[in-house]
Amino acid sequence: DEKKLKKFYIGSIDQGTTSTRFIIFDGTGQPIAQHQIEFSQMYPQSGWHEHDPKEILTSVEQCIEKATQSFIDQGHDISDIKAVGITNQRETTVVWDTNTGEALHNAIAWPDTRTMGLVRELKARDGADDLQDICGLPLSTYPSSVKLLWLLHHVDDVRKAYDEGRLSFGTIDTWLLYHLNGGKEKDILITDATNASRTMFMNLHTVQYDDKLLDFFQLDRGKIRLPKIVPSSSPDAFGSLTYGPLKGIRIAGCLGDQSAALVGQQGFSPGSAKNTYGTGCFLLYNVGEKPVISKHGLLATIAYDFGGKRKPVYALEGSIAVAGSGVKFLMNNLGFITHSHKISDLAASVDDNGGCVFVTAFSGLFAPYWIDDAKGTIFGITQFTERGHIARATLEATCFQTKAILDAMELDSGHKLAELAVDGGMSNSNLCMQTQANIIGIPVDRPAMRETTSLGAAIAAGFAVDLWKEFDELKEINQKDRMIFEPNISREEGAKMFKKWGRAVDMCRGWLD
Ligand code: ADP
Repeated sequence: DEKKLKKFYIGSIDQGTTSTRFIIFDGTGQPIAQHQIEFSQMYPQSGWHEHDPKEILTSVEQCIEKATQSFIDQGHDISDIKAVGITNQRETTVVWDTNTGEALHNAIAWPDTRTMGLVRELKARDGADDLQDICGLPLSTYPSSVKLLWLLHHVDDVRKAYDEGRLSFGTIDTWLLYHLNGGKEKDILITDATNASRTMFMNLHTVQYDDKLLDFFQLDRGKIRLPKIVPSSSPDAFGSLTYGPLKGIRIAGCLGDQSAALVGQQGFSPGSAKNTYGTGCFLLYNVGEKPVISKHGLLATIAYDFGGKRKPVYALEGSIAVAGSGVKFLMNNLGFITHSHKISDLAASVDDNGGCVFVTAFSGLFAPYWIDDAKGTIFGITQFTERGHIARATLEATCFQTKAILDAMELDSGHKLAELAVDGGMSNSNLCMQTQANIIGIPVDRPAMRETTSLGAAIAAGFAVDLWKEFDELKEINQKDRMIFEPNISREEGAKMFKKWGRAVDMCRGWLD
């Protein structure tokens, strides 16, 4: 049976915030060949964060080439790769000239907070309070809509292209598909429902663009091309790769990265959840076939849409802007460590946080607080404080926010999570995952193969081309050698730490620019 399963392969393009990967999985969900490239992070001003859309595309092309070469070198046959899936960083906004296909500005990356003032203005506009019920997202610096508005207001070339009706807008999935599938030649823009649900232009209930939303942002659909919204798993909506070593292979799946991780962790039943500790950290909780609009600071979003006879599935989401990027900050800005993985050793050099709490609000604070003007703040520093304490406080910051998100999720859904499935770069830290279990008081469950985001995109693609037909067939995938972290401090101790965190959050508001 195992042999039968292994006869096919699926490629997965994983375009993350800090790196791009291409992984070729076999039918048992094992990665067979892969390549990863880090690309440039640009911070032109405090709070600004950009990517070069061209560099991103090139990184994808190179990853496909290198991983495919390794696949061939291992004696495999390209004709056994049955489909390719795409997963990508969400909200990051690209604009280009419809006539030439050339980007008109760097992409504004999702953690960018340049739109803070604009968001304040928008919140005062008529109708601002109705938006969340329609699209599931509160007004903040996070969604694509405000990033696009900023470009329209501040970049002459973008405004001009809009006025002349030749402006194309897309998230990273759309940008990549446009190039990879020959959309540029055929003039087709595509996005999947999960990515579209992060723009603030899509009605969560109809899974289509909503004129009320577009009117609120004063966008004229005659002047801007928005991508067509299609299901996340589809045999024909995404076309095929038109160049490179995998030319002719169908692109059959497309999911925003957090949706892909939920699929990769097989969070298919209502009540299941996963938390991914990458650059940021994102907890998605499957609420089933009807959206739940949060009353407690969470986002409502499309979890995944497998199309055909299956209805779109929704999630409540808790988004944390800074997780692994906090580790990178200690490495790149403060020189505390030379590699991300060394953070655990540094944190283990001390017994506890020594009284330090680090609110890592580099992009304001996202869920469940939504404080746009918060800035990173370290509380509790004394002569006793060492780098180890700050390292610990950095890891703990994400764990505390996860606890706040779980509390909000319990209030919104009426359910208490029994255990938390985790993945992503920072989940490699045993110390961080043990701390997480201690703070939330439930077990943390980590798979051995942590490329669940890539796996999710491969699963979406595999379903579209009928390699699998029922979710049940995936049951065995990635179940071996999971590691469970059981809480090992008392509830009272955990609660005491969390209380201190709450106080720190209260005090980091309203820092003046
Ligand atoms: P993304 O897809 O957002 O680019 P990844 O899931 O690849 O993110 O995770 C990368 C992040 O994880 C980086 O910010 C890095 O600092 C952090 N990271 C990687 N390994 C470790 C580790 N062993 N301990 C703590 N953080 C880590």
